[in-house]
Amino acid sequence: MTTSTCIEGLGNLRLNALSMGQGPALKSILAQLERSQWSSPKELRDAQYEQLSRLCDHAAKTIPFHAQRLKGAGFVTGRAMTPEIWSRVPILNRSDVRDLEEKLQASSYSEELGRTWTASSGGSTGIPVRVVKTELDVLIWQAVHLREILWNRVLDGEEMANMRGISKDAYLKSKEDPLALKEEGGLVMPDWGAPVKFLRRTGSMGILQPDQSLAVQSDFLLKRQPQHLLMRPAGLRLLLSYFREKGLRLMSLRGVWTVSECVDDSLREECWALFGCPIISNYSANEVGYMALQCPGGTNYHVMSESVYLEVVGANGETCRPGEIGRVLVTPLHNYAMPLLRYQVGDEAEVGEPCACGRGLPTLKQIVGRTQDYLTLKSGEKIRVNLSHYRICLIGAVREFQLIQKNLETIELRVVTSRPLDGEELGKLRELIEKPYGKHFTCLVSIVERLPRSQSGKLLQFVSEVLPTQV
Ligand SMILES: [Zn+2]
Repeated sequence: MTTSTCIEGLGNLRLNALSMGQGPALKSILAQLERSQWSSPKELRDAQYEQLSRLCDHAAKTIPFHAQRLKGAGFVTGRAMTPEIWSRVPILNRSDVRDLEEKLQASSYSEELGRTWTASSGGSTGIPVRVVKTELDVLIWQAVHLREILWNRVLDGEEMANMRGISKDAYLKSKEDPLALKEEGGLVMPDWGAPVKFLRRTGSMGILQPDQSLAVQSDFLLKRQPQHLLMRPAGLRLLLSYFREKGLRLMSLRGVWTVSECVDDSLREECWALFGCPIISNYSANEVGYMALQCPGGTNYHVMSESVYLEVVGANGETCRPGEIGRVLVTPLHNYAMPLLRYQVGDEAEVGEPCACGRGLPTLKQIVGRTQDYLTLKSGEKIRVNLSHYRICLIGAVREFQLIQKNLETIELRVVTSRPLDGEELGKLRELIEKPYGKHFTCLVSIVERLPRSQSGKLLQFVSEVLPTQV
């Protein structure tokens, strides 16, 4: 890598040198992101189409699969990509990525993008995919994370409790760090680590793996009194119901940062009630990076237009307007090692209005959830799963739950409880699924010891055991 290289084609982003070192490179990207967020929607879109033109040019020259598809859509290498041509580029499904894997990798790409590595994702969607990325993708990922830190005004000296947990290997490594302190059930590191340390002189970071009991989790938080808490929404819901049941409060927090699963209004309200702070949520996936960050002024999600081109489309591929819900297609703008063009990530989202904060980055009002969160009726028709998490958690003894469609006649709500439920409570749970779905299915409620997690550690709140061939 040479130090004077200007990597073209990052949308609004330009890197003068990938080799300038992680800290300076991140600061350089971050400074550009600070400016570009105030660009007009048109300026952002124009920059994205410039980038799409370069990316498609590269894809057409180095990947026969894309060459054929782009040609079919009317794209000519060396010429600009237009919205009309783009709308004809076929959607890339998860199963395409899984099945084609190596055939989607570029035969060559600039060495300036750094070494490659493979990101795996999607145990939770049932279709795991592996995507080759470069060091540049890591830098972009970290820079967007720093943008999130800036947007939410993390201050020097503030403490974090990481209860999402870290990988087993990273935990063992942290444990051996001479600066690590042992704490009941977990560890305390002196700072938040990279990349946040390049931006802030943070306070300590407590790490508690998510398999700890709710009692240990609450003791950990009450003792440490952190300003920030990181955890998955499903875990947070359980922790909040535990706090409510025990009459506990935690008022040191300024924000609860969540990852992975969707956040709904009831969870946000419960967080305000018991922790006195907002939930700070984002939308990301390993294979494509950050897609959107929550606006610091509200609950809209701003699309990360500098690093991804994100579309929301209806059943026939038409572009959704504000207020409409559709499938999310995402095109990471910097992945030249394995370009994903119009990749259907597996979620649905509602398109938002332009945000009152003044940022030109488009918005999503909400991420609705996985597209396979549908019950299948005998007729083959599908209806969205819409279970009131809030009502279920009003029964304080419920610790976790999962709805399963067993077959075309039966659905089952499985719950893990802290004590046996009485007849009235069981009746309430049955009513919660019978009311919306009783006319289609026999509804069962069962108490189980534990619920399985996906490979990536997510608790799926809906699982369908119906095979496509049964419909
Ligand atoms: Zn905003």
